[in-house]
Amino acid sequence: MAMTNETHDAGLSSWVSTANTAKTDFPIQNLPFGIFRRHGDDEPFRGGVAIGDQILDMAACAAAELFDGVAAAAAATAAESSLNSLMALGPGHWSALRLAVSRLLRRGSPDQAAGAAALVPMDEVEYAVPSVIANYTDFYTSLDHATNGGRLNRREPPLFPNFKHMPVAYHGRASSVTISGAPCRRPWGQIVRPGADAPTFEPVRMLDYEMEIGAYVGVGNPMGYPIPLVEADQRVFGLCLLNDWSARDIQGWEMQPLGPFLSKSFMTSVSPWVVTMEALVPFRVPAADRGAEAPALAPYLDDPSDRADGGVDVTVEVSFLSEKMRAAGLAADFRSRGYFRKNYWTIFQMLAHHASNGCNLETGDLYGSGTVSGPVRDEMGCLLELTDRGASPFQLPNGEDRTFLEDGDEVIFRGHCARNGFASIGFGKCRGRVAPAHS
Ligand code: CA
Repeated sequence: MAMTNETHDAGLSSWVSTANTAKTDFPIQNLPFGIFRRHGDDEPFRGGVAIGDQILDMAACAAAELFDGVAAAAAATAAESSLNSLMALGPGHWSALRLAVSRLLRRGSPDQAAGAAALVPMDEVEYAVPSVIANYTDFYTSLDHATNGGRLNRREPPLFPNFKHMPVAYHGRASSVTISGAPCRRPWGQIVRPGADAPTFEPVRMLDYEMEIGAYVGVGNPMGYPIPLVEADQRVFGLCLLNDWSARDIQGWEMQPLGPFLSKSFMTSVSPWVVTMEALVPFRVPAADRGAEAPALAPYLDDPSDRADGGVDVTVEVSFLSEKMRAAGLAADFRSRGYFRKNYWTIFQMLAHHASNGCNLETGDLYGSGTVSGPVRDEMGCLLELTDRGASPFQLPNGEDRTFLEDGDEVIFRGHCARNGFASIGFGKCRGRVAPAHS
């Protein structure tokens, strides 16, 4: 069972005053890691920890020798240009560094002056993808997303028969995982238009987003050695927001019979901040109720610990800003809200399944949860579901209609966790604007 400790105490506050406001994603109880540098500069990327509207620069902390022992060893790796070395150290080091950072940033810390010298304002920085990602995998674990998709494709029954037996996934493309804020260039692809009997190669018209939770592998497994489910939560470093940009018109034609390829591989966006599994401990909940009809779980996907607290209670939200809304000075418009705790498979079952055949997962690998969706329209995490594959447009506040994404549209994801008795924490933003196709 995941246990809280002094770093989760709701009574803690920071000498960084912006960390103590109710609306911040980054109170002292969160302390997510990211990779950053001042923008407009060619200084090196390095690790940092978000606190209020500031970043605690891990390279500056290491240079100033602000930490001791195991925490100092961990901070030295966090000063590198990716989080891989820190991720590889494992939970003992992650936890020691979190505790040291928490104590440094607390109100009353004797090292406040030295800590303040290691802060960089968030509005002065740019971010990089947090890890060097050798492998990216995307799962498909929301029962409602799978059911909604099955209905749209007129399958009867809508679920494929494997869904309740294992977390289904495809291997994605690691090289096109991109940091939040980068534009998403509308791809070209082979598309069969309605009524046509052959494909044409043209810019896609059914460009979509998928609101997902991403998970970074901390400690992987040697090839040939599966990861027992009971160990999985010691292997995951943390979670992020993930946008699996999708070209539905390519997808329908190309998936027969080997699954998604170019409809997904043009880009995947991730949020800058990785919220550690330790920060998420207060928000662990029982795995979603599978229902009385569910088939028995295979032993490698079943463990009392996973049933007890394999779920993570993250609420994710999508908002939408068109080019015309931006020009008119309008705020982004709320589109949907999803509840990750309802996902049919836990992030730990995904990890155990991924390694169950002996496939070696590597430090820094990323996997997505699949679209986090619910049964009703304002819980649907992609436009395919939200507009019934384009049949039911929605209206933006300025009167524009949308089915799929148009050039200039910006999609913004947010995520947060809340529980009585604990400080609420957030994931920051994962955002991306659609750029026109190349001519
Ligand atoms: Ca997906």
